[in-house]
Amino acid sequence: MSSALPEQLADADFLAFTLKHPEFYPASSFVLNNGTQCEIWDTGVICFTPVRYGNNDIVLSSGVHGNETAPIEICAALTKDILQEKLQLTERVLFLFGNPAAMNAGVREITDNMNRFFSGAHQIDAAVLATAAFENQAQQLGLSFEKLRCARLEQYVSRFYQVMPTGRQRALYDLHTAIRGSKFEKFAVYPYLHDKPWSEQQFSLWGSCGVNTFLLMQTPATTFSYYGAQSHNAHAFTLELGKARPFGENDHSRFAEVAVLLRQLISGEVINTKAFVETDFQLFEVYRSINKQTEAFELCFAANIENFTQFPIGTVLARDQGIEYKVDQPGEALIFPNAKVAIGQRAMLMVKPVSVAGRTA
Ligand SMILES: [Zn+2]
Repeated sequence: MSSALPEQLADADFLAFTLKHPEFYPASSFVLNNGTQCEIWDTGVICFTPVRYGNNDIVLSSGVHGNETAPIEICAALTKDILQEKLQLTERVLFLFGNPAAMNAGVREITDNMNRFFSGAHQIDAAVLATAAFENQAQQLGLSFEKLRCARLEQYVSRFYQVMPTGRQRALYDLHTAIRGSKFEKFAVYPYLHDKPWSEQQFSLWGSCGVNTFLLMQTPATTFSYYGAQSHNAHAFTLELGKARPFGENDHSRFAEVAVLLRQLISGEVINTKAFVETDFQLFEVYRSINKQTEAFELCFAANIENFTQFPIGTVLARDQGIEYKVDQPGEALIFPNAKVAIGQRAMLMVKPVSVAGRTA
């Protein structure tokens, strides 16, 4: 049978197609020979609905930070196999390539860090978004592409979940790689659940592919994963899968287990998971966030320090104008240090070990 793909996607390379149209692409749809409905909602946004689908509505997001290429390449391979009908879906899936313009530039962001502008932090009114013409919208509205993109992605995620009846299982996996190495190569940020229990099934699922370290958040955030959990009651995580490298330079053997898990999740293959036992995991909670307050802010450790590095009590971690930040908790570890953030933003997060006993379901 001849390919059902439209001419501009004849090579089934949805990532290349996305990067050719980094800011905008008009909606279009087509049906594969195996009956899978494919809807392009915008650049980097493709919704797949197989003829028969299960109870899961799964959002796979990559490239919210443009230079975190390994997950982008994993999702590009999955979309290609779906479009070439080598991979038969058993669930509805929405793939999102977050920031195509930044991907083209090989940078984390052009203007704004997208993972700080979800849950309405973009401050773009839905009515304004609806009335402005789609093309060149960022310029029309005087906004960064990234803020506009966050507002748009929220609309697509809402559409994806809300066209279905309630009572289905929702997941939003936002796939990243970190700027630096990590004591634990793969880890997940579990967004604040407002005192709802943490999911043992999700711990086990991610543990099965080597994500054994979880950072359990205790406050609302403007990340994509918090948005998915809070606004849509999805099982949502920010998954940090390794170190960020340029396109084509990733060692995919380090990501193989994750790639296999994602493939199994969307194609109905059996996933071998172990029952949840807390001691199989490294669980942390945030102890404090250290924000950059002035241009004088400096970090007091080697630039190549790994995430989850622990220090003795009393160690000076950072200095800002008139302030010195010292370790004051046993087991206190740092993650995401970045002195180059804007004034007022988080320059590092300090975490400490935690137990979830009695707080899982
Ligand atoms: Zn990232």
